[in-house]
Amino acid sequence: MSSGKFVSDDIVLKLVSKKITSSDCKNGFILDGFPRNLSQATSLDSLLNNLNLSIEYVFLIDVPADLIIKRCVGRITCNTCGKIENEYFSDFREGDKCGEGIFVKRADDNEETVSNRLKVYAEQTEPIIDFYKEKGVLHRIIGGEDGPQRLTDEIITIIKN
Ligand SMILES: [Zn+2]
Repeated sequence: MSSGKFVSDDIVLKLVSKKITSSDCKNGFILDGFPRNLSQATSLDSLLNNLNLSIEYVFLIDVPADLIIKRCVGRITCNTCGKIENEYFSDFREGDKCGEGIFVKRADDNEETVSNRLKVYAEQTEPIIDFYKEKGVLHRIIGGEDGPQRLTDEIITIIKN
């Protein structure tokens, strides 16, 4: 994971299967960052079919690549309370104090690793957009710099309709 690669499909699918059949998922569940490729999407489909379940909504949160890079490369986390700031969008810098802790950078939040993740996304994840579009469950949401609240509102509106 620290080199920007992902855990194998087999392992991920077993983990997902175990989780979504557990009692705390009986009213539904949200998958975030899964499936990441067409093979995972089709495996998930047959898994859900066997369980008499189906995906009701797929939200594609579309953010420009340069903004994604800034969000990842600038991300700093307090090593004590877990607070997250961004060097591009706040006055906090790596090494600054946060209460008892200091802000540190994750080893995999460098430009090379993030660019590699975006390349993997384009090659492997983008094809599943059409897969879900054909099923009629895909909703594209334009993400940007206006924060998470608008996205939340938009998603809630879609689900309520
Ligand atoms: Zn802190």
